Parts: sequence; C-alpha cells; structure tokens
Amino acid sequence: MAAKTRILVPGTIRERVLDRLKDVFDIVRIEKADPALLARSEAASISGVAVSGSFDAAMIEHLPSLEIIASFGVGYDGVDVSAAAGRGVVVTNTPDVLNDEVADTTVGLLINTVRRLPQAETWLREGRWTREGAFPLTPLSLRGRRAGIYGLGRIGLAIAERLKGFGVEIAYHTRRPREGVPYAYHPSLLELAEAVDILIAIVPKTAETHRTIDAAVLRALGPNGVLINVGRGWTVDEAALAAALHDGVIAAAGLDVFYDEPNVPEALLSAPNATLLPHVASASVVTRDAMADLVADNLLAWFERGAALTPVPETPLSRKTG
Ligand code: NDP
Repeated sequence: MAAKTRILVPGTIRERVLDRLKDVFDIVRIEKADPALLARSEAASISGVAVSGSFDAAMIEHLPSLEIIASFGVGYDGVDVSAAAGRGVVVTNTPDVLNDEVADTTVGLLINTVRRLPQAETWLREGRWTREGAFPLTPLSLRGRRAGIYGLGRIGLAIAERLKGFGVEIAYHTRRPREGVPYAYHPSLLELAEAVDILIAIVPKTAETHRTIDAAVLRALGPNGVLINVGRGWTVDEAALAAALHDGVIAAAGLDVFYDEPNVPEALLSAPNATLLPHVASASVVTRDAMADLVADNLLAWFERGAALTPVPETPLSRKTG
C-alpha cells in the first residue's frame, strides 16, 4: 500500500480541519511554525501544510517537497506568498464563506459604537437605571449619515448591501473602481474621508495599506466622524487614532483589529468613545466550521484532483504530476 501523503500542521488549528483530514492524510503536528522543530529527514516527507497563522520563508525553504499551504482565514498576510510562488507552492485561503458573518459583525460594531449599546447595558447591569434613571441620550446616530467603505471587495460589498437597508448613503475607495456597483467611487482615501462621516476599513494587510488611516484622514473624517476597522490593525496609525479620539478630531471608533494583537494600546483602552472587540468578526461556530471545511477541501482537491479550490491570485497553480 502506498504511503499516505504527509500534511504538516504547525500550532493550533480548528479541530474540524484535523477531523476532516486524518483518514486521508498522515498528519504531522509541531508546536509552532519553526524549522528547528522538524528534523530535515522528516521535513523532506511533507507535501502539504494546513496552518492558522504565520508561515514564513524559512519554513517554506525547510520543506523541499512542499506543494500546498492551505491557510485558515481569508487574509493570508501571515504566509510568505512570494516565497511560496518562487518555489511553485500554491497558497490557498478561505474567501467568501465568512463574508456574511464579518459583514454582520461590522454592522453590529457600527451600531454599538454610534448608539453606545455596550455602555447602556453596563448602565443597566450596574443598577444605575434604578438608581439614576435613564441612560443618557447618545449624541451620535446613524440617521442622516454617509458611509465610506475603504475596500469594496467580497466583504466590503456585503457590508454595503446591509447598510443600504439602514438608509445611509454609501461611497467607497479601492485602487480601481468596481464595475456594476451603484456606489460613488473616490480615487483616494483622503477624498473618501472628506466625503463621508463613517469610514469602514476592510482592506488587506499589504505594503500599500500600511498606516493609511493617519492623522490627515482622521481630520478629513471630521468631528462627527466614526471610524470602523474590521480589516487589519496594520492599516491604522493607532497613535494618531488615539489622539484623534481623545481630542475630538473624530467622534468615535469601533475596532475589531489592532496593530500588535493581542496588545491594545492603553491610549485606546482609555478612550471612552472607542468600542473595542478582540478580533471576533468571523468568530462563530458555523462560520469557523465553514472556513475549516474549506481548508480541508483545498488539500483534498489538490491531492485528489490536481487543482486547489481557492488559490490566492499570486499562486494560480495546478498540480504537476508524474
Ligand atoms: P477582497 O480581496 O475581496 O477585497 C479587498 C478589497 O480591498 C478590494 O476591494 C481591493 O480593491 C481593496 N484594496 C486592496 N488593496 C487596496 C489599496 N492599496 N487601496 C485601496 N483599496 C485596496 O478581500 P475580502 O473582502 O475577502 O477581505 C478583506 C480583508 O479583510 C482580508 O484581507 C482580511 O485582512 C480582513 N478580514 C478581517 C476579518 C476579521 O476577523 N476582522 C475577517 C475577514 C477578513 P482593489 O484591488 O481594486 O484596490
């Protein structure tokens, strides 16, 4: 009987990925993605990787027979995709299956930020409703607002579709206008921020998006402005944002992602007009299961049929056989 294909799983990953793979493949676990944890002889036997988190060039180089890295999540900034492409290794991610969950969470975070619902619940739980009376009216509301979406991709579009139902005007910025959408396009982030009073960031972590939401963009958003970030913390200049929240340069922010997770700067924690979540936009059982299934299905499709289901654009590869 032929030996089973060997799949390396560094660190932790949703158990469902392992359950789906264990009968077909030989699974090799290591504590984290560190070449020192895998002897050269064993490394040579690895054909595929399933990973949630980072997988760098040193790991790719350590695996001479590697064909595929199936990454858990739609953002694949943790995987050195150019090193993979250079070696002819396909990288897959988990697009689309999380669009609705992330868009739902974004709308929830926006409403919490604007209408201060977490603070209102705390008011009730601390007995202040009975002692002090009604929770103070919120100065902010969604009524009459214009929302700008920074990144109108798969998730950005799902957010826009939901916001239509709230009667807010919608505009967006991407590098290229998206065909067939009814929303106003702004060729720069600064122009978008000037035109709206809600800015929702849902762009990937790339060299081009680094700290693009800076002091100038926040000033353009203005004193009634609300920033929501569900993309990556990398996109925001957190020091500028904290200053803008404390100084009233913008009105409020809702953040699901941070520059150096899980560390959240004290200056953001101490801002009463910041609503902060621990990177939970896709974090429901149903959606994380769908993501786990897509990780497993990519590996199965690659080794059984020679083509991955959702390769990232940088590695549009088919399997070389024979
Ligand atoms: P897509 O690739 O479908 O969309 C990305 C969008 O960003 C596109 O509209 C793209 O347009 C735009 N974009 C990319 N680079 C730039 C740039 N330099 N300037 C302006 N716009 C840019 O990705 P998804 O919608 O599926 O996911 C987006 C990101 O959201 C992920 O990469 C991930 O980092 C993050 N995410 C966060 C989650 C969380 O838990 N908080 C959960 C899921 C995703 P164009 O190419 O025309 O510029």
